[in-house]
Amino acid sequence: MSNAETARASPIVAETFDAIVIGAGIAGMYQLYRLRELGLSVRVFEAGSGVGGTWYWNRYPGARFDSESYTYGYSFSKTLLEEWNWSEHFSAQPETLRYLEFVADKFDLRRDIHFNSRIASTVYQETENCWEILTEHGERARAKFLITAVGVLSAPYTPDIPGIGDFKGESWHTANWPHRAVDLSNKRVGVIGSGATAVQLITEVAKNVGQLTVFQRTANFCVPLNNRPITTAEQGDLKARYDAMFEQCRHSFGAFIHDFDPRSVFDVSKDAREAIFEKLWHEPGFGFWLGNFHDIMTDEKANATIAEFVRKKIRERVKDPVIAERLTPRDHCFGTKRVPLESGYYEAYNRPNVQLVDLHATPIERLTQKGIKTKDAEYEFDVIIFATGFDAVTGALTRIDIRGEGGQGLKDKWRDGPRTYLGLQVAGFPNLFTVVGAHNAANFCNVPRCIEQNVEWVTACIRYLREHDLNRIRATEKAEEHWRQHCEEVVSHTLFPKTASWFMGANIPGKKRTFLGYGGGLPRYRDKCDEVAAQGYAGFVLE
Ligand code: NAP
Repeated sequence: MSNAETARASPIVAETFDAIVIGAGIAGMYQLYRLRELGLSVRVFEAGSGVGGTWYWNRYPGARFDSESYTYGYSFSKTLLEEWNWSEHFSAQPETLRYLEFVADKFDLRRDIHFNSRIASTVYQETENCWEILTEHGERARAKFLITAVGVLSAPYTPDIPGIGDFKGESWHTANWPHRAVDLSNKRVGVIGSGATAVQLITEVAKNVGQLTVFQRTANFCVPLNNRPITTAEQGDLKARYDAMFEQCRHSFGAFIHDFDPRSVFDVSKDAREAIFEKLWHEPGFGFWLGNFHDIMTDEKANATIAEFVRKKIRERVKDPVIAERLTPRDHCFGTKRVPLESGYYEAYNRPNVQLVDLHATPIERLTQKGIKTKDAEYEFDVIIFATGFDAVTGALTRIDIRGEGGQGLKDKWRDGPRTYLGLQVAGFPNLFTVVGAHNAANFCNVPRCIEQNVEWVTACIRYLREHDLNRIRATEKAEEHWRQHCEEVVSHTLFPKTASWFMGANIPGKKRTFLGYGGGLPRYRDKCDEVAAQGYAGFVLE
């Protein structure tokens, strides 16, 4: 019997709420806060034992923000902004988790959150117009509104490598890092992957490890984070500028305090361009990527100039020219994969106890009892770490058995790529809101800024329904198809579709290759959402 069938057949009486939220990360916590304000009874179901979502799960060494800390926190509460002091420009995971726990305490959120309950399935009950959820422990609950706040990068992906169960040492995915102190000094450690997670992890682990071996398939363009502590003097200044910073984020493409330079790479001389690249290279955060000339993301020739600049930096920093070449990306345009921000990543490879295996030259054949066997060698390890990423954007939803009208499964509906309206609803799944869903600006965003936009839109929509004595909202197939075409059209003007990345679903074998986010930026996305609401929720049927 499928999970959905079990949910339908289960005789246990389900508790009923006005709204159920799945996930107690940044989005789920804020959605709970806003729905409570509307006077709704709300229950949040969370798989982990605490709040924090991404920052609860990803406890690997080196995990930290790539967004400026003070632009990442919630903006909705002046007292919260006043009370919380970030200690670094880019906060590390333990501090971020403490912040989210502080928020949960301050707004007394935990009393409505049911922890350690992963949702297995949820079924729309047509006659009663409600969603019924079933947890993996067999608990059931019902609500008129169901809001998924399951995150973009929360379904860990571990590749199906032959012999994966044979390894006798310890092994885990970075997103399932143990909730205990892990001592890797004197250990032989293997890391598979070289994405943003691996870059942070490797830099930190390399400092105190017996032997570290990195298995890299694709080299990435990594850029300095340039992090540092926030001084006492800066603390006051930052707090005084909160309103201005959030306003700046509202109007920038990715909701960062960085935004693209409207000039073309070719509007300035080669020397002037190099000087601008050099200046941005030494600035904190994503400025080098998202504060650069706009056409690096749309024109391959413009992109080639910045790609070559980064390649030169790699050659300067890695002592062994053979390793430097291995770390140099040559198969994709700069910025078409999420740019990892680093704090000494390239120098890690100058250490005698760190080695790099090029999987293009010598692919992994299998895991063995002792370690990893590639085409030409067997490497022995005490610990193997999978920094192999996530079934991004859609994975956290398709891993739940979600059944809409007529028993239609969301996973089946999305077999050829996601179909949503505004990234917030799916036709055939009434009263289900997908905060930070597919084809939503939140997938390419300083995510709390987009979360606040999403949550406020959903909250306003539910308020509207209640004020107008309406019980049901559902996206039309036509509106959904228009939105899909719009998303495709917008991204077709960029270089993203040319690169195999998680943005394109290309990191998961068998997943349809299509852009999963919204490539038009937050301001344009917000305008579209606001326009729909102002027209009485055009493209939706309200009943
Ligand atoms: P990722 O970018 O998808 O990287 C996964 C890595 O695993 C890639 O190097 C990939 O190689 C490799 N890999 C996958 N399958 C493999 C296989 N079968 N054999 C060998 N290698 C394999 O995942 P991630 O590094 O976890 O990052 C995901 C996203 O999380 C980032 O892009 C970012 O948005 C977010 N993140 C954010 C922060 C932050 O804000 N501070 C930090 C870390 C991550 P290929 O490239 O060849 O596929």
